[in-house]
Amino acid sequence: MVLDLDETLVHSSFKPVENPDITLNVDIEGQLCTIYVLVRPFVSEFMKRMAPIYELVIFTASLGKYAVPLVEQLDPDNFCAYKLFREHCTFYNNSFVKDLTRLGRPMTDIIILDNSPVAYLFQPENAMPAVSWYEDRSDEELLRVATLLERMAQEDDVRKVIRTIIVNNKIEPRQEQLYLSSTAAQQANSGSSRPHRRDKSHRVDKRGNTNAL
Ligand SMILES: [Mg+2]
Repeated sequence: MVLDLDETLVHSSFKPVENPDITLNVDIEGQLCTIYVLVRPFVSEFMKRMAPIYELVIFTASLGKYAVPLVEQLDPDNFCAYKLFREHCTFYNNSFVKDLTRLGRPMTDIIILDNSPVAYLFQPENAMPAVSWYEDRSDEELLRVATLLERMAQEDDVRKVIRTIIVNNKIEPRQEQLYLSSTAAQQANSGSSRPHRRDKSHRVDKRGNTNAL
């Protein structure tokens, strides 16, 4: 699972904000700048729920000198084993695109959670669009998405689900409910004997099928 940072997990600005969750001092072109970071509600809980069932990768179009110290504080338990930055993006039509084929994992298993459609321009069928977040402390989007992603970890091909429940870059509420109720029924019938996705990723690891990671 590929996680975007800005406006998906955090919102950062150079403008001072009241009660920032994190402040960073970053050297930008020789000048030390303070960056004020607000953290989206439930980020820690989201990572804790996802880490046992997915390999977590931070993939940001921002620079490493901002993202590395930010992720250190955002993810102190190091649930996200891999971090990818602007230099790992593909510059295409004046935008930074995150080419998911570079991860060296089967495309049937990859999900990117990102607020920016241009980031997943090359593989929209692997994208779980995130509603852009700026400051709303009552936002519960990560909990909503976590429930869906827990179910999707049991799928042979995540793209089949994404094709059904994502319409115009949004989670379609009715399809979401249909999917949640159908998988709830399946799980009740079969118990939870299916392997988790993360086990599959490890098998791929052993074949040495990695590229960017
Ligand atoms: Mg973003």
